[in-house]
Amino acid sequence: MDLMTISIAENVARVFERVRVAELENGRREGEVSVVGISKTFDAQAIIDAVSAGITDIGENRIQEAEMKFPNTIGGFKKHMVGHLQSNKINKALRLFDIIHSVDSLKLAKKIAFSGGNDKEFLLEVNTSGEESKFGIKPEETLDMLSEITGATGLTLSGLMTVGPRSTDESKIRSAFRKLKSLYDDASALNTKGIDMKYLSMGMTNDFEIAIEEGSNMVRIGRAIFGERSIGRIDW
Ligand SMILES: *Cc1c(COP(=O)(O)O)cnc(C)c1O
Repeated sequence: MDLMTISIAENVARVFERVRVAELENGRREGEVSVVGISKTFDAQAIIDAVSAGITDIGENRIQEAEMKFPNTIGGFKKHMVGHLQSNKINKALRLFDIIHSVDSLKLAKKIAFSGGNDKEFLLEVNTSGEESKFGIKPEETLDMLSEITGATGLTLSGLMTVGPRSTDESKIRSAFRKLKSLYDDASALNTKGIDMKYLSMGMTNDFEIAIEEGSNMVRIGRAIFGERSIGRIDW
């Protein structure tokens, strides 16, 4: 095994341990929080290494990159699209991925439904920080948007996703996550066909423990598993 392979295996073990501790400390069921390894900018071998170390879910944020990498892996993992989805790439996205975290408009949802995406899973992306550089719908529009989308398209929406604020101020991060959790609870209480809240996708390398404290059941971890990205931030 080369050094990269060993360090990914060690990182995965460390992340699982931190998630387990956060579950225990917050009265969550062990194993309740799933870990999606975000492999953007890393190669297919890195995905193979992470999956060998126990990662069951892999996320990418670009269609083209996933298209190049996934065929060079050995599969055996659930494929998540976590980046912004352009409507002209929907067909490819539906071929490549099992679950899409980034539905952010009725128009996009309609195109997904038109392209036959009913057998996949979808999350609505919410911009909880109000940062203009971020994608996602406004928190106050989320509940209406869920109903509009399911009503107009017949798609099932299985969760909510957010990217926390780009800040070191813990209270800001916490309040963004708290906002999403509250929307998730409200959405779960709706008795609307097609709204079936299962995934609360929030928390990344710098803030996943806070996210778990605030109720996340799906964290998206890149750097803590794969290492620092030399190419830098890609789209957020
Ligand atoms: C890159 C990315 C992540 C992972 O970020 P890290 O800081 O590397 O853990 C999670 N979610 C989305 C949407 C991303 O683009």
